[in-house]
Amino acid sequence: MGLHLYDTRRRRVRPFEPLRPGHVGVYVCGPTVQSPPHVGHLRTALPFDLMRRWLVQSGHAVTLVQNVTDIDDKIIINADRDGTSVWELATRQTRAFDDAYRTVGILPPTIQPRATGHIPEMIALISALIGAGHAYTGAGSVWFRVGSFTDYGALSHQRPDAMLPSAESEPGKADPRDFALWKAARPGEPFWSSPWGDGRPGWHLECSAMAGKYLGPVFDIHGGGLDLVFPHHENERAQTVCAAGAGATGEMARYWMHVGLLTTGGTKMSKSLGNSVLVADALDVVRPQVLRYHLLSAHYRSTLEYTPEALGESAAAHDRVETFVRNALDILGGPGEAAALAADDGESGAGSVLRGRAARGRPGSEVVGGAAGDAEAGLTPQRAWADFAAAMDDDLAVGRALAAIFSAVGQGNQVLSKAHSRALAGWVDVTRRMLGVLGLDPHEQWPSAGAELRPALDGVMQIALDLRSAARARRDYAEADSIRSRLAAAGLIVEDTPEGQRWHLA
Ligand SMILES: [Zn+2]
Repeated sequence: MGLHLYDTRRRRVRPFEPLRPGHVGVYVCGPTVQSPPHVGHLRTALPFDLMRRWLVQSGHAVTLVQNVTDIDDKIIINADRDGTSVWELATRQTRAFDDAYRTVGILPPTIQPRATGHIPEMIALISALIGAGHAYTGAGSVWFRVGSFTDYGALSHQRPDAMLPSAESEPGKADPRDFALWKAARPGEPFWSSPWGDGRPGWHLECSAMAGKYLGPVFDIHGGGLDLVFPHHENERAQTVCAAGAGATGEMARYWMHVGLLTTGGTKMSKSLGNSVLVADALDVVRPQVLRYHLLSAHYRSTLEYTPEALGESAAAHDRVETFVRNALDILGGPGEAAALAADDGESGAGSVLRGRAARGRPGSEVVGGAAGDAEAGLTPQRAWADFAAAMDDDLAVGRALAAIFSAVGQGNQVLSKAHSRALAGWVDVTRRMLGVLGLDPHEQWPSAGAELRPALDGVMQIALDLRSAARARRDYAEADSIRSRLAAAGLIVEDTPEGQRWHLA
């Protein structure tokens, strides 16, 4: 059915059609780099990573622009407090955000522009707005004239005349609803020269300037946290649409996508409220892939409560999936063998449908592997993938997507033995493919520490197991047991199974 997205502007789920077929331009408002990242920042960023992976999976080229706000009142205040410069603080925290995003598997943006690197573009934008009568100067600042844009309020669904005027009046501002495009320099603060005097850009302006530069005046998807709808995105939209002038489509982005809040105790997680959990502290408690799983497990538009209990449930669910994939690959002899078996499995293998050859499969061929559970549930790997894809296409309905994964894991666990290797290969292949879209494939995306040493360890273990077999063959059971217990002491557990000796890390 193709991707459908909820559009804040139109308040409904609509079919997604990119401006240029096959190409998708996304702008996501990035962090203000004033202090270390907390878990709420990850929650806001993850759905765009999920959407991007799904669009790429569906054959699109995605350009994702995420800015860094590296000049702002709070950065100036915090740098002052710490006795450092705004440049040093912003650099340090930008790196902390990049690290946090990377740690939970968020793909880096295609373009990551910094506000302070785009002052000329912002000055050009302000000039255009003044020229078109949408902005005016006052007391060394430049203000956007909200009353000049009749569509103001359309994004956040407010009537301009019903908006409450801001309590504080600012020098030079003609209407309380107006907002700053350029702020006059204050003593001791960083500033840039402009036609209107020394100063620095207003926050809303940078996103219009950078989105316009890298994606054009109209692009596909604009995203951010729900708390950005007003005033930030409303103001961005006003600036961009008004600067584009007559003949413009009247839209900055064709879809506006907003992520629900992360709460603790029912209150928005926020640095200023003092209830934020730093990413570094969260990762002391859970592994990064579990944190990713948890933050993705609720629909992106819903509010997600962050509690130790909920995190524990996510850890258990994630472990179940991870254990299945590891066990299945172990039994099948590795991912290469599993993929080959799945691809070889014609009609029932996940490989065929996932590679787009389902329609040319062999009609009427039997489900391979004798998996009774499949027949009972009517579920095949293809069906699991179709359920998953339908869920993802439905405004990234991750709850249903996870249900498809757990169905596949349930089926796979029923055939978890060498004897059912073909059926098992189909299930583990489709499970990994679905997890890959979520950025959660345990083998490919989250290899266990030291995975690069695994081939060497396999070789050494084979020698140890051969020695143990030889000891048993000559009825030297004391020696066989000794080898086993010495391996166990080293964290290498050997099990005797009907198919021979198997080992795993403790
Ligand atoms: Zn923005």
